Amino acid sequence: IGMAMGNDPNFAEWITRALTFLVISCPCALVISIPLSFFGGIGAASANGILVKGSNYLEALSQTKYVVFDKTGTLTKGVFEVTGMHPTAEVIKRVGSEEEARALLLETAALLESYSNHPISKSLKEAYAKDVDVDRISQVEEIGGHGVIAMIDGRKAAAGNHRMLKKLGMEGSIKEFGEDAGQKAATMVHVVFDDLYLGYIEISDIVRPQSKTTIENLKKAGICKTVMLTGDHKKVADEVAGLLGIDEVHSELLPADKVSKVEQLLESKGEKEKLAFVGDGINDAPVLSRVDIGIAMGALGSDAAIEAADVVLMDDNPLKILLGIQISKKCLRVVYQNIVFALGVKAVCLLLGALGIANMWMAIFADVGVMVLAVLNAMRCLRVTPQKELEPGLE
Ligand code: ADP
Ligand code: MG
Repeated sequence: IGMAMGNDPNFAEWITRALTFLVISCPCALVISIPLSFFGGIGAASANGILVKGSNYLEALSQTKYVVFDKTGTLTKGVFEVTGMHPTAEVIKRVGSEEEARALLLETAALLESYSNHPISKSLKEAYAKDVDVDRISQVEEIGGHGVIAMIDGRKAAAGNHRMLKKLGMEGSIKEFGEDAGQKAATMVHVVFDDLYLGYIEISDIVRPQSKTTIENLKKAGICKTVMLTGDHKKVADEVAGLLGIDEVHSELLPADKVSKVEQLLESKGEKEKLAFVGDGINDAPVLSRVDIGIAMGALGSDAAIEAADVVLMDDNPLKILLGIQISKKCLRVVYQNIVFALGVKAVCLLLGALGIANMWMAIFADVGVMVLAVLNAMRCLRVTPQKELEPGLE
């Protein structure tokens, strides 16, 4: 055969065409520029305090259509301020003065919360301001979405919400404070000691200053729906959601209810529409690992959250979600540009090469030239310029 081909006068021509074809068809423009774009995107994100755990999450982020938020610690700072202390008349009578009754209320709460890392407990410990004598407390049990039960000086005590009172069969005790005690738009921590209802501490959280801008701009960025899930009281939840303009609110959820709510949403959405959940991981770590993109608050968030999440916001700024989406969209745009450009040039050159019109120089351009251009394009992923209106919140 070799002899036969060697005798063909066009032999050299066919070899040249074959080699030209081979050089053009080398896929290095794609193979180099696509991972480089993703590295660039992940790099740009981390330079901005957004840790993305893989390029697949960057791609998913660019397809986000639903964003579900946790309330406490995510949309709000999770830094509660004690705005009121309400001991019962019975307790005031027993200890002598209202002053002392308040001190007792706070001390009991601080003791109970000494082992918890819930934002509520941190705030109560801070309000107490003294060191807690941990020897007085034992058998601590924290119940997600309820509060804490423990033994203080060998006697049973508890701190938590109305659900906790119900669990203890003491929901009738708050009657003393009248109808409106159950209706306040503040989080209430009820305190029980030795089967006696001591009263409640009223605490309120501050909405993060960037939360409203985040929700507004998510809409502009093409997100169909924003949802808030919280274990907190309906009143508090509705107030925060109304303030921020959230589309859908579900309140008074236990950690397991959050998972089932998210599962309902996951079922109702389309295949290409991705759902992101943003949380601090306290009572919502299971949700973080269940959704398409779990986003955790890195500074306030629990270790479990940072572990379970796909994206971590290092400085807890919700605006970074928008920046992350912007980076991911830019990155994916560059990737598609490179695919179309590289394949387009190669297709044309392959055709010309096969017909013998393209020479080896053209082949080299279609290979190395296209690769260099694609790489230069991919490097654009490294740079992000946030939208003007987001800049103040990103400082
Ligand atoms: P969110 O979903 O808004 O982040 P959580 O699920 O963490 O809220 O908590 C829901 C509710 O459960 C709180 O609003 C509070 O009433 C109660 N709770 C949970 N943990 C504690 C605790 N350690 N001490 C007192 N109350 C608690
Ligand atoms: Mg939370």
